[in-house]
Amino acid sequence: MSRILNFSAGPAMLPVEVLEAAKADLVDYKGSGMSIMEMSHRGKEYEAVHDEAIANLKELLGLDDAFEVLLLQGGASLQFGMIPMNFLGAGQTADYVNSGSWGSAALKQARLIGTVAVAADCEKDVPTRVPAPGDLKLTPGAAYLHLTSNETISGAQWKAFPSPNAPLVADMSSDILSRPFNAKPFSLIYAGAQKNLGPSGVTVVALRKDFAEKESKTLPTMLRYSTHIENKSMYNTPPCFSIYILTLVTRWLKAFGLERMHQQNAEKAALLYQRIDATAFYRGTARKECRSDMNVTFRLPTVELEDLFIAQASKLGMKGLKGHRSVGGVRASIYNAFPVAGVQTLVGFMADFEARNG
Ligand SMILES: *Cc1c(COP(=O)(O)O)cnc(C)c1O
Repeated sequence: MSRILNFSAGPAMLPVEVLEAAKADLVDYKGSGMSIMEMSHRGKEYEAVHDEAIANLKELLGLDDAFEVLLLQGGASLQFGMIPMNFLGAGQTADYVNSGSWGSAALKQARLIGTVAVAADCEKDVPTRVPAPGDLKLTPGAAYLHLTSNETISGAQWKAFPSPNAPLVADMSSDILSRPFNAKPFSLIYAGAQKNLGPSGVTVVALRKDFAEKESKTLPTMLRYSTHIENKSMYNTPPCFSIYILTLVTRWLKAFGLERMHQQNAEKAALLYQRIDATAFYRGTARKECRSDMNVTFRLPTVELEDLFIAQASKLGMKGLKGHRSVGGVRASIYNAFPVAGVQTLVGFMADFEARNG
C-alpha cells in the first residue's frame, strides 16, 4: 500500500480503516447483492445507514432533543444563502463576523438577502486572527450572529465562543468534531463534510427546532429547513454514498473518543507550532492565541524558498502543502484523520530543510 501524506485542506484525508471497510462493502453491501450506491434510499439497508449517521452526529455533538440534525446538499456554500433566506426577514438585521475568506463569503451572500451589520472585521489583519468573544459590536435584537469557527485559509480558530442574546450561527466546516462541542450557545451550526467528516456531497446542519420555526414561509420547498426536518433529510434522494462514508467516519470517531481526538489534534498542532517557533526561519501567520489546530499556516523567508519547500516535500510524499492561492505560503491541514506520524515526518523535514537553506 502506498498512501501519501495528504495535507490537503479539503477534500481531505479519510481514515484508512474507513476506506478499507467501504472497499469490503462496495460490490455487495451486506449480502444485498448490490452496492449502497445502487439501492433505493427508501429501503431498510440504506435507511439504517442514514439513521445511524444522524444518531452518531447527535451523540458526538452532545445534542439533546431540542436539536435536529440534517444531511443536506449544496455544501456550506448553499448554507451561506439558505440561512439569511430563512432567518433574515425584512426589517431585521443579522450580525456577521468577518474573520477571513469564509466569514467574508458568508457575509456577501447575506447582503444579497437583507440588512447585515459587521460585528467585527479582521479579515485583512496581519498576523491573521479571529476576534475575542468580548470584542463584538452586536446589534440589539439581531436576527442572529454568524461566525466561522475556523478560517480554513488563513488558519485562525475560535478557542472560546461568544454567548450573544441573538441566536448564534456558526460555519464549522473545517473544525467540526475536532474537539468536544458545547451546544448551549448555538442555534444552528453547519459543515460541509469534506474536511473533517467524510467525502464531499453532504453537508451537516444541526439546528434548534424553535429556531427552525422562525423560517420564512415563502421559500421554495427545497430551501426550507422544515422540509428537511419533516422528511428526515429524505425529501428528495440524499447523497447516499457520501452519507454512508459519513456513517463510517462517525463510527470510527466514536470508537476513538472525541476527547482523545481533541488531545491528539492539539498534540499534532503543537508539534508543528513548536517547530515554527524554534527559529526565525519559519513564521506562523496567525496570532498565537488563535492558531488553528486544523490548518497550520506559515511562511518561509522568501517565496522562492516556499516553492522549493513545497516541491521537495512533495517528492518525499508530503502533498497538498501549498497555501491557498489567495494568501500563498505553506498550509498543513491536519484534520482528525491525519496521522501523528505524518506530522512528525513534516517536522523532521522542516528541520532538515532549514539546515540546508537557512
Ligand atoms: C471549505 C469551506 C467552505 C466551503 O464549503 P463547500 O462545502 O465547498 O461549499 C465554507 N466554509 C469553510 C470554513 C470552509 O472551510
